[in-house]
Amino acid sequence: TYHFAARVTSMQPSPTIAVSDRVRALRQEGHDVLDLGGGDPDFATPEHICRAAAEAMARGETHYVASAGILPLRQAIARKLRDENGIDVDPSQIIVTPGGKSALFSAILALVGPGDDVVMFDPGWVSYEPMTTIAGAGIARIPLDPADNYRITREVIEPHLTPNARVLIVNSPNNPTGRVLTREELEVVAAIAQERDLIVISDEIYEKIVYDHHQHISIATLPGMAERTITVNGFSKAYAMTGWRLGYLAAPAPIIKQVAKIHSHSVTCATSFAQYGAVAALEGPQGFIDTMVEAWDRRRRLISSGLSAIKGVHCPLPEGAFYAFADVSGTGMTGQEVARLLIDEARVGVTPGDAFGEVSANHIRLSFANSDDIIERSLERITRVLGG
Ligand code: PLP
Repeated sequence: TYHFAARVTSMQPSPTIAVSDRVRALRQEGHDVLDLGGGDPDFATPEHICRAAAEAMARGETHYVASAGILPLRQAIARKLRDENGIDVDPSQIIVTPGGKSALFSAILALVGPGDDVVMFDPGWVSYEPMTTIAGAGIARIPLDPADNYRITREVIEPHLTPNARVLIVNSPNNPTGRVLTREELEVVAAIAQERDLIVISDEIYEKIVYDHHQHISIATLPGMAERTITVNGFSKAYAMTGWRLGYLAAPAPIIKQVAKIHSHSVTCATSFAQYGAVAALEGPQGFIDTMVEAWDRRRRLISSGLSAIKGVHCPLPEGAFYAFADVSGTGMTGQEVARLLIDEARVGVTPGDAFGEVSANHIRLSFANSDDIIERSLERITRVLGG
């Protein structure tokens, strides 16, 4: 027998990765499985980005680089944050990380430990809680109401704040709900953060993926928030670069100084030649993003109307990101039961809602970052198994 740390034995493996593992295993057995589990854009990384990385590699940019990231990339990120988001930071206030995930993890490890609490909304992304647990900190969960479109108000937040709350995480556009927070909602968060002296971690990884009239707003631009916000973003979703593992955080200098220690002792630096690809992503043509978002806009309508046509299933039109989050309570089954039925009988991989928090036990999440054909075939199979 082996000895393991209590913080890891009590932890569940990532439920979204568990779905893709199951899909892969079934495929290896020869089954035809459609995978709506993951969060990976179904587009190739644009060629000019790949070329810039390949050229960097051919030039010999294959060694360690500055821990915080190569200067041209941090300069390009600072320009992007200023021009697109209205966030004014110096390149020295940016750390380039292997994915937004690593930025979030290093930030949480730097900010909290035993005796501190991290405030997070429920439903929320699967990794905030395990990251907080690894840091040894506690969790204050704020359940949001699907019947009220997961709206954030002072009344919703305040009863769940704990005396030891130090950090609050917002994620807009949201995974899994697709919610894009309004200015009013962000103002509520900003006011509470200032009253309670909280640092806000703003996970803006789906920033570019918004539909209809919805608009992404960075909370760091609200009055009084620049000095207490860590803005996290990355290249995975906007530039179809999930496998490149590139993200970043931007924060006030004193926060960067502490996060930089965690980053340098754990990852050293993000991959050198990949960073040159990221410079090309930010400085090259951006029209590619519109093409992707147009496709996802069409697929979001397809999937939510297809699902809502099934008796007992209700799927609102997502405001942003690329997930349909459907309430399946009308089927008489839980999200877990429906997800199991769909993989076993329909050979469609979806994520059970409780992966995102207890409040979503009656939901399933389906990624529509997949071709129209895969979505249409998935809907046919789901309708056949759940009944029209
Ligand atoms: N934040 C959210 C809400 C996500 O859904 C993801 C990826 O699925 C990430 C962060 C991390 O993405 P990456 O590490 O690929 O940048």
